[in-house]
Amino acid sequence: MTAPPLSPPAVVSRDEVGVHVRGLGCSYATCTCGWTARPRHLRAAAEQDAWTHSIESGCAPAFPLVNR
Ligand SMILES: [Zn+2]
Repeated sequence: MTAPPLSPPAVVSRDEVGVHVRGLGCSYATCTCGWTARPRHLRAAAEQDAWTHSIESGCAPAFPLVNR
């Protein structure tokens, strides 16, 4: 049994998606491509928005992902 060869992702983008925390109970994900998620009460939900956008659009997750 052999593993499939590693290949870079088909979609290459320089845009970065990250999470902004605006106080307790208000976090939202934004991307440099112009995409913005709706505000979330939970930071984890905003992080999930960021990861979902990253997977769907090919934008890279920022490091660190969360900016306070
Ligand atoms: Zn994006």
